[in-house]
Amino acid sequence: MDALKEHVLNQVAQKGIRFIRLWFTDVSGTLKAVAIDPGELESAFNEGIGFDGSAIQGLTRVFESDMLLFPDPSTFAILPARSKDDEPVARLFCNVHTPDGQPAQSDPRGVLLRTLEKAKQLGFTVMVHPEVEFYLFKNAHDLNKLEPVDQAGYFDHVARGSSNDFRRKAVRALEEMGINVEFSHHEGGPGQNEIDLRATDALTSADNIMTLRTVVEEIALSENQVATFMPKPFKDHPGSGMHTHISLFEGDKNAFYDAGNQYELSVTGRRFMAGLLAHSREISAIFAQHVNSYKRLWGGGEAPSFICWGRSNRSALIRVPLHKPGKGKSTRIEFRAIDSAANPYLALAVIIAAGLAGIEGKYDLPEEAEDDMWRLSDLERKALGVAQLPHSLSEAVSALSESDLVAQTLGEETFDFVIREKLQEWHEYREQVTTWELERFLRGR
Ligand code: GLN
Ligand code: MG
Ligand code: MG
Ligand code: MG
Repeated sequence: MDALKEHVLNQVAQKGIRFIRLWFTDVSGTLKAVAIDPGELESAFNEGIGFDGSAIQGLTRVFESDMLLFPDPSTFAILPARSKDDEPVARLFCNVHTPDGQPAQSDPRGVLLRTLEKAKQLGFTVMVHPEVEFYLFKNAHDLNKLEPVDQAGYFDHVARGSSNDFRRKAVRALEEMGINVEFSHHEGGPGQNEIDLRATDALTSADNIMTLRTVVEEIALSENQVATFMPKPFKDHPGSGMHTHISLFEGDKNAFYDAGNQYELSVTGRRFMAGLLAHSREISAIFAQHVNSYKRLWGGGEAPSFICWGRSNRSALIRVPLHKPGKGKSTRIEFRAIDSAANPYLALAVIIAAGLAGIEGKYDLPEEAEDDMWRLSDLERKALGVAQLPHSLSEAVSALSESDLVAQTLGEETFDFVIREKLQEWHEYREQVTTWELERFLRGR
């Protein structure tokens, strides 16, 4: 057995771990878990743990339901204790395999792994850091009167406010699990907060996003609050985005850095960005996967709506953030359209695939957008050659279903599943008669 597995088994024995939770993710990005006795871990590493995949959304077709979970030993972490006398519980992220030992095509973590394998063949490791925004409510008893935990705004320090305490607890819990937090602060909306993780390789980053969501939701529940990663809970307040910073490394060297280029962004970086711009409409149903996502993208509040890039232009889809002089290692791009409810594995996979397509195809980067895109007219934007992100999930799914890039990245099975699921979501939504419509007709508003 390899040394890492051995190390994990030793840790489990030494720390008196009572349960091991095996974590994996369905196609929509919901965390799934099964707890095993520590005595089972060794065989889980070697032979996998069987489960009925057909019960998990999108994972298998019913006639091939048996699946195996193989825990990834590099993801071992002890979960924060719920109370002082809680027996320690650990978690491991798993890869899903078919009974004949092959990686399951529809496992989102596997989809990302395959994409990263492709990056590796081109000589790149992908580094990612996310800024995760979410809202905190006192409760969710009355959905028409959601009460945020405070009325503060961007970077506000709320003395004794529960957001501060909450962030401190969440950050401490994440750090205890070995996840490094770079910043955390109050965001623009009432009760809205942000936690930014340090850059790691893309797979770890996706795992960390799943962990962050779980930790945040659980702490909120333990405080009798509700945390939501929903993209746009309020019409009149900003949505919750998940700005994602990306760079490619060749060994130790940041392949996005070139001191001699505009903004010190290398040709590789420019092509990656060009790929992401060119394919952004067709991958949109993956990084903004819900009906509600498009209310964020088209609802102002600093969410991007137009397909352009800029240096510090906050209306742009992609930014090239400033880095400190001489800090070439932190040259990166910031993709701003992805929201906090995306499946991080699938979203990162299609974002990276789009960027790599730009590198392989030597795409040209369009001119930088210097204007505030929201202030221009449609005609002015058209003259600048600036296209728009889809306005709805329906439009996004139409673009998705034409996409060879997404079909290849997700694999045909998951691609078909996502299209079916997303159309279903759209149809259910379209049937709704909203309060807005009733008010217009019955009260003439
Ligand atoms: N909340 C904004 C969004 O939806 C981002 C705000 C910010 O971090 N500048 O993307
Ligand atoms: Mg931020
Ligand atoms: Mg923010
Ligand atoms: Mg940002």
